[in-house]
Amino acid sequence: MQTRPFGSTGAAVSITGQGTWYIERARKQDAISALRRGLDLGMRHIDTAEMYGNGAAEEVVGAAVQGRRSEAFIVSKVLPSNASRSGTKQACESSLRRLGTDHLDCYLLHWRGAFPLAETFTAFDELRREGKILSFGVSNFDVDDLDESLALLGPGKLACNQVLYHLKERAIEHVVLPWCERNNVAVVAYSPFGHSDFPPPHSKGGVVLARIAAERAATPRRVALAFLSRRSSVFAIPKAVSLAHIEDNAASGELALTTDELARLDAAFPRGAAPSSLPMI
Ligand code: NAP
Repeated sequence: MQTRPFGSTGAAVSITGQGTWYIERARKQDAISALRRGLDLGMRHIDTAEMYGNGAAEEVVGAAVQGRRSEAFIVSKVLPSNASRSGTKQACESSLRRLGTDHLDCYLLHWRGAFPLAETFTAFDELRREGKILSFGVSNFDVDDLDESLALLGPGKLACNQVLYHLKERAIEHVVLPWCERNNVAVVAYSPFGHSDFPPPHSKGGVVLARIAAERAATPRRVALAFLSRRSSVFAIPKAVSLAHIEDNAASGELALTTDELARLDAAFPRGAAPSSLPMI
């Protein structure tokens, strides 16, 4: 699995990682086996959140990384409703307990809520100084929120912005992605398969995906992930419980698409007009 520097943190993180939204709905042993197989294959970046299953997903991640903590790059998220200065610190402690670890590699604000950003960032900074988180970032932040964050924090502090990004939803390419690249902020593509809306094989785009996959002895999902991570700022975090899916996703880390293949995908899945606000799910 290829790694690249995770924004300004410089940590070497796998370009394809593992999501955990709804992972707690699978049989616990299957979910644990999937995450551990993903680690075996180098998908070190494990994304979770206090929101997922009300903490149940974090417990699954905790069980999966038991005895292997140093192999994983664990990211969790505080809910906006908890993101006051004291609430953020309490939420982090609870996440650490469920994950069975003494630190997170990165801690994110899940989306912007009512608490002033300055409060949340103060708590993040305190947690970082206490060694409970190694870095922090944001999720679902549009450019105005990013500008405000930069003004509060100064350069080099924000590790990442985790945003909706898949072949049928390329809105971030207009302004958010360029902003992150200018400021050395990693872009983490969530729902990289469109959650449950992957292009079907007989759709116009699905046919292009299938053709490129056949030419490269790959699969449409691998091609989709390779398209998203074609830029050196982008990481993707597909969620999978099936071991076959985990192995397929891990193989994406070896697929580099040619300029011609990228152009065919760009034509099949056009970026579209800039939206008035950043899409999220
Ligand atoms: P996703 O990763 O786009 O798609 C997950 C679905 O794809 C599952 O049904 C999975 O099946 C299937 N799948 C995975 N690999 C496959 C493969 N190689 N071949 C065929 N099917 C495959 O959906 P997501 O869970 O919405 O997004 C990924 C992660 O992003 C989440 O889990 C979460 O960690 C994060 N996220 C963050 C936010 C945010 O606001 N920050 C929002 C949404 C998601 P199986 O599970 O059955 O294997």
